[in-house]
Amino acid sequence: MRILHRGKDRCPLATATRLHGGPAATTHRRAGVKMDHMPDTCIDNLFEMNRSWSEGMTREDPTFFQRLSTQQTPKYLWIGCADSRVPANEIVGLDPGHVFVHRNVANVVVHTDLNCLSVIQFAVSVLKVKHVIVCGHYGCGGVKAALEGSELGLIENWLRHIEDVRDRHQPLIESIADHDARCDRLCELNVIDQVMNVCRTTLVRDAWRNGQELTLHGLIYGLKDGLLQDLGMTVTGSEQAGEAYESALAALATRPPQS
Ligand SMILES: [Zn+2]
Repeated sequence: MRILHRGKDRCPLATATRLHGGPAATTHRRAGVKMDHMPDTCIDNLFEMNRSWSEGMTREDPTFFQRLSTQQTPKYLWIGCADSRVPANEIVGLDPGHVFVHRNVANVVVHTDLNCLSVIQFAVSVLKVKHVIVCGHYGCGGVKAALEGSELGLIENWLRHIEDVRDRHQPLIESIADHDARCDRLCELNVIDQVMNVCRTTLVRDAWRNGQELTLHGLIYGLKDGLLQDLGMTVTGSEQAGEAYESALAALATRPPQS
């Protein structure tokens, strides 16, 4: 496809979109973007890329947007980190409409966070998702800051929840000498603990009590290889949660640290 040049502000991401074309190949068409050369301001190009993406999707499936506009039937709720390098749909290769997403700094599930709880309620009670995935990632800046007790202002209050995870699992973390590996171990522990927090919500407990089929999962994503790993924190009912938690922690203790 011929590339249109719009002058000096042309965004390299727009170029990459055009070069690789196909609407379903979101991950691939961004693979060639040289982020080093991303301009600071790129809003015009975002509109341009959006038009290109919309046209591509319509070309491949003329009824795609019409269908999506009238119904939403995702099977997965994804609770992930807000980190720009971990976009839920893209890393599992799914188009819009398949994953209901909630993201915050370091994929934390807090029992008083009405935002997260509302998302869980809508996903479980209304959309009737089959799977709830808590997905962390190695090299998480929020987890690193919590591990180090960094002074960052307001966000320290949020990261305090991860410091709780750190303190709860102190022996397991301190058994690792390398700092980056310690951080990655805390990323894993944070996922496992946050899945447990999802288990403990009244929303999920009620769903299980009512016989709703719902499986919780704890996954972690590698920034260096783009791969997801299952941390073994898979829960299908309240009575199984404690055993799954202990089992996932035991498996982690025997697993070589990353980094
Ligand atoms: Zn993160």
